[in-house]
Amino acid sequence: MAQAVAGPEIERLIQLLARMPGLGPRSARRAALHLIGRREQLLGPLADAMRVANERIVVCGTCGNIDTSDPCTICRDAGRDASILVVVESVSDLWALERAGAIRAQYHVLGGVLSPLDGVRPEHLSLDALVARATDPDVREIIVALSATVDGQTTAHYVTELVGHLPVKVTRLAHGVPVGGELDYLDEGTLSAAIRQRTAF
Ligand code: ZN
Repeated sequence: MAQAVAGPEIERLIQLLARMPGLGPRSARRAALHLIGRREQLLGPLADAMRVANERIVVCGTCGNIDTSDPCTICRDAGRDASILVVVESVSDLWALERAGAIRAQYHVLGGVLSPLDGVRPEHLSLDALVARATDPDVREIIVALSATVDGQTTAHYVTELVGHLPVKVTRLAHGVPVGGELDYLDEGTLSAAIRQRTAF
């Protein structure tokens, strides 16, 4: 254990920052010093923003998104295509798709993917709620937007079977060459998926 260089309040700040993804103890110290050096502009406003967020954050009872209202901003958005449900693993995946701005549809957050190794079983995911939503006659298409990992694709198959009896089209994300990607650098699995899923010009 490293020797403490500051009082317990500052050490606690550093320890909490070190639990952030991507921050180790060294970068947590740098971040703490950065915040402390900008108390007025950064540390105070950040502390206020965190307190307000902590008080107001709720999980959307419809889709599982995180927001400060339930239903969330996306579920309340009347300008979205209510006939399409995009199934995602996590809120971070939902936010990533929203950043891409490729589709204005509704979402459903599963809260994970099936994983025998990690003990994640169907009852741990928001699957009953998904089937209930997919039963809505307004829903015409379900886009299974899960990661191209073994667990992600196992879950995608499970979801497809689960809603297979419903009159909805089930689609999934294309696999293949990333935008800006050079063929030479791609692995064989990605290349063969790209060839199999080629599209007409
Ligand atoms: Zn929602």
